[in-house]
Amino acid sequence: PARRSDGRAPGRIRGMSVKLTSPDKLLWPEAGLSKAGLLHYYEKAWPRMERFVVGRPLSLVRAPDGIDGQRFFQKHASKGMHPAIIRTADPEDGEELLSIREFDGLAALVQFGVVEVHIWGSTLDAIEQPDQMVFDLDPDEGLVVEDVRAAALDVIDRLDALGLPSFVKTSGGKGFHVVVPLKPSADWSTVKTFTHDFARAMEQADPGRYTSVLSKKARKNRIFIDYLRNGRGSTAVAPWSSRAKPKATVAVPITRDMLRAGAGPADFTIGSAALERALDGPDPWADFFKAAKPLKL
Ligand code: ATP
Ligand code: MN
Ligand code: MN
Repeated sequence: PARRSDGRAPGRIRGMSVKLTSPDKLLWPEAGLSKAGLLHYYEKAWPRMERFVVGRPLSLVRAPDGIDGQRFFQKHASKGMHPAIIRTADPEDGEELLSIREFDGLAALVQFGVVEVHIWGSTLDAIEQPDQMVFDLDPDEGLVVEDVRAAALDVIDRLDALGLPSFVKTSGGKGFHVVVPLKPSADWSTVKTFTHDFARAMEQADPGRYTSVLSKKARKNRIFIDYLRNGRGSTAVAPWSSRAKPKATVAVPITRDMLRAGAGPADFTIGSAALERALDGPDPWADFFKAAKPLKL
């Protein structure tokens, strides 16, 4: 078969429609991670990342001059975006939502200076019916990762008791996200109400440890059960996305056993042996969509 100039077979080439400029630019200076290094990591992560990022609206954190420079949080199309970044009018307000269809799209995001990819909890095909809900555990300053881990295990136990499947990932920041796959049926307002009630129930059961209220004041020495990721247009960091943190952490799907054994958000940085192992071993989220159930109130 015909070969392209890079010697690779056509059709199997990733990122080929995208030309990476300044590939050696260090986007994470402290970690020594360049733009090309990020793209290389995503090539490896793509087989696992693909089904969580394709065909759903994205929010982007851009840092064209690197994570120590100015950062932009972007939800809508702007000028100069590569055509592999798809624009779809939001049926609600006509604003152009951003999505990708294949690896070239992710490569285009990297070229665009994207250092974090955040996802809606619904796909473009069923935009009003979430296919997942997220419990984001946000600790007050001063709490340690063990506290957040205990909260994640508590959320998982409570979901088990309700017969709801759940999967956990590190956030790449301070803690963990517990994610519930849904068969799309309930609408955004139903899912938001459910997650808000769930957060309130945790707060009522253990008010010394948990709060369902966003404010810093309510959080004093507590963990905010952040249910607010579950509104229409809200996003959470995508599984396998890099984070704009000095050490180049990644949001990584882990098993419950890994969580119990002490895995944490700082373990997985781009280039680390732990991240390599996570990518080479069994996929803890392999059954994510298979496990989905409709949310019944
Ligand atoms: P951590 O474990 O440190 O809490 P996290 O990803 O959960 O990591 P949060 O601060 O809890 O971080 O949540 C950030 C969320 O807020 C993102 O998922 C993003 O979708 C959303 N968000 C809204 N506005 C912004 C913004 N201006 N910059 C970054 N994120 C934003
Ligand atoms: Mn969080
Ligand atoms: Mn949060």
